[in-house]
Amino acid sequence: MRIMAYPGLAMGTQTDRQTEQLVSYIAARALETVVEHRHGSDPVVKLASPDELQSEFDQVSSLALRPHDSVDNATLQQAVDLIIDRSVHTAHPRFFNQNFAGADPIAVAGDWLGSALNTTLATFEMAPVFTLMENAVVGRLAELLGYRPTTVETDANDPLRSAAGIMCPGGSTANMMALQLARHRKRPDSIRVGTGGERLTIFASASSHYSTGKAAAVLGLGTDSVIKVADGPDGTMDVAALSVAVQDSKDRGEVPFAAVATAGTTVTGAFDDLRAMATVTAEHDLWLHVDACFGGAALFSPRTRHLLDGVELTDSFVWNPHKVMGLTQQCTLLAVAEPERLDACFSSKADYLFQPDKLNAELDSGDRTFLCARRVDALKLWLTWKARGETGFTARVDHAMDLADHVRTRIAESDGQFVKMAPGSYVNVVFQWLPKELRSGPDWNPSQLSDDEREALHAVAPRIKARMQTEGTAMVGYQPTDGLNTFRLLFMNPAVTIDDVDETLRLIDDYGQQEWAAAAAKL
Ligand SMILES: *Cc1c(COP(=O)(O)O)cnc(C)c1O
Repeated sequence: MRIMAYPGLAMGTQTDRQTEQLVSYIAARALETVVEHRHGSDPVVKLASPDELQSEFDQVSSLALRPHDSVDNATLQQAVDLIIDRSVHTAHPRFFNQNFAGADPIAVAGDWLGSALNTTLATFEMAPVFTLMENAVVGRLAELLGYRPTTVETDANDPLRSAAGIMCPGGSTANMMALQLARHRKRPDSIRVGTGGERLTIFASASSHYSTGKAAAVLGLGTDSVIKVADGPDGTMDVAALSVAVQDSKDRGEVPFAAVATAGTTVTGAFDDLRAMATVTAEHDLWLHVDACFGGAALFSPRTRHLLDGVELTDSFVWNPHKVMGLTQQCTLLAVAEPERLDACFSSKADYLFQPDKLNAELDSGDRTFLCARRVDALKLWLTWKARGETGFTARVDHAMDLADHVRTRIAESDGQFVKMAPGSYVNVVFQWLPKELRSGPDWNPSQLSDDEREALHAVAPRIKARMQTEGTAMVGYQPTDGLNTFRLLFMNPAVTIDDVDETLRLIDDYGQQEWAAAAAKL
């Protein structure tokens, strides 16, 4: 790369030559990282305490910024190496810790290109290409959902004409915007005058994501306005209980206005019954929002598409391609069945930005969202979608499902070493590991434990996890299920093999047996 002698590169103590050299170094190391971490030859994480991190940086260049700081390139390059070395390698084939993993390198590079062009997806003037790309990706999602005509030839799919929704910085923001749309439909005047003395209520399952409560707080409704509906035995919303809860709310003089269906709960991957919920929401005139942040990827495989049956009957849908589909964070789409509601709900008509007499002003997206500046996340998604094709998306989901099914089979055949703790039909597997002393076959359940055993077993999961982190061998999540810690494996990274999965189960058993022995000695 030759970028010498361009104006504005030299600044402070850096010459333009030095800036060029530093930029090249960072870009090269980043590119290497994108590919290398997938091999899994390095540890998943090289664990360090905050104090250790601080002192390692002190030896290079302190983390704290000081008034006269100015660091030479050799030092900054060491800092870049240290950053990569001490970060969690989420593309590593034994990283199962989170609802994202294994970023697609095309998305990573697309993200860089978007940053390099540094613009805002607010007006066509500033983002002519990205405005059309956003309409194209959201339009295709809406089409997959059955929100709009389903032939590619129809005008409604013409990116020049259509905005079937909007991209948002993360699922929490998108869920909040959907609830604002819902309130606006019920009480159009609330935009201007607020909610007044009425209690407007929202319904979501007990296992729904916490962003609904946060959104209710920010919208001025209060977290008490979110009525949690019990889950059935399969972890999805009990729809009969929804019906009762809505009627009870009305009987209390409240104004129910929205139900949130979760399509793929964060922990167990349960999908609420959209068709059944739509019957209840239609009867009571509620907005039906689908939080498919995690489960939206199910649209792309015949093995999982049925989990979203009835989605065409819903009012809005949020999907995070930055989760199962491996886009880089953040990448979130909000599709709306009646997208013109976005304008009515979010428009400010700021006359310094959205001048109606400007060229192509009708394509400006900035007045259809809560945000002002927006990253051009549409670019990386468009590039990845084009490059992989929907067959590539299908393959990604099917690979994840194969691995999850493999674990489900291993559990079923483990003779009580592992016990399934939640029904699962998606890429999540929630299970208990048991020490030899406590095994009693697949029908084992926690009520068999004495109080001491329960306490000891509860403490083993965090110790197993800590061993993995300390040794850098794997990263898995755990959470309490009925008050007892259980493990959760999440599959989505195409770099993960069956061997990685088996090795991770072996590690859980190996560390588990050692940690249990230590815990049991105290019983
Ligand atoms: C991850 C997740 C969210 C939140 O999305 P962010 O992009 O992290 O804000 C909301 N709902 C569900 C079901 C999720 O899994």
